[in-house]
Amino acid sequence: MEDIYERSIQGDITREYALKLVNSNPFQLFDVANQLRKDIVGDEVTFIVNRNIDITDDCMIKCGFCSFRKSIGYHMTTEEILASVKEAVDVKATEICIFSGVTPEMTVEYYCDLLSAIKSNFHIQIHGLSPVEVFHAARLSGISTVDALTDFKKAGLDTLTGASAEILVDSVRAKICPNKISTADWVKIIKEAHEIGIPTTSTIMYGTVETWEDRINHLLILRDIQLETNGFTELVPMTFLNQNNVLGAELSPSSGMDDLKIHSIARIIFGKVIPNIQASWIKLGTKLAQIALCCGANDLGGTMMEDKISIAAGSSYGEHLPREDMHRIINEIGRIPVERNTLYQKV
Ligand code: SF4
Repeated sequence: MEDIYERSIQGDITREYALKLVNSNPFQLFDVANQLRKDIVGDEVTFIVNRNIDITDDCMIKCGFCSFRKSIGYHMTTEEILASVKEAVDVKATEICIFSGVTPEMTVEYYCDLLSAIKSNFHIQIHGLSPVEVFHAARLSGISTVDALTDFKKAGLDTLTGASAEILVDSVRAKICPNKISTADWVKIIKEAHEIGIPTTSTIMYGTVETWEDRINHLLILRDIQLETNGFTELVPMTFLNQNNVLGAELSPSSGMDDLKIHSIARIIFGKVIPNIQASWIKLGTKLAQIALCCGANDLGGTMMEDKISIAAGSSYGEHLPREDMHRIINEIGRIPVERNTLYQKV
């Protein structure tokens, strides 16, 4: 156990060693990850008051794990989006999180007009888009991805989401999201964002066809990017939800043990390099999220207000956890609730 702890702190977890760890006693992993969490970020558990806004479920990418695409059949107007932002501002949310599908209308100009409209009406952080949206918007507008990111930043994008990473192994992507950008393109766009001063989250979507080796390779790619750019604010592990999608017909959801092992091994691989690891209550449920917070995680994510994407995929844990519930869930495990903003500054 001491060896694992020391190697994590020294940033010396190799692929082979990590693979050995995930095949060893899981309770030892949970213990080390919990100790690392305590020593690196302390006993505070952060959360953010935010609102998800999923602007359309139309999408030409057609990922096999996606339940959101055409689940309702809608495209919000700018007025409807502004009305949703107002509802978030009214409950003192500090962040709106904009997601959407990819359509031929979603050009750089489209997003810039939307970002500017939000910023000129409201004082709120905009966390949104992801490398796949940046890639296609840039292509549709005939400019480079770094120029698209620069335009988004000028128009009001504060932070980019690290969604569309799924598993950063092209042989896995070929099976679960063959039309999505490659690992190399995802990494390139994330590094470009960091280089021009747009921080991003990082994510892993696990539980489909990938192996533990693929998961570890993914986490090591994220660690290497962070060592180069220091632009990630956190890791958000997201378990695959298997309702209403093509892949779900053949696959069961991940086990609770695997959910906990992902949070633990991420903490051990990242050490101090990416200090914030989220336990996503909307994917895990609040009870398993509490346990993940005792196995390496230190953040409970957002209050959300809505999450059409998870609901379409079979999440049954609701879409909204108000501040008081966040406090209760964190207090119940003997930890200290702290509201944060997108950049992990205390609110
Ligand atoms: S996961 Fe995203 S990119 Fe893939 S089909 Fe669904 S909405 Fe489109």
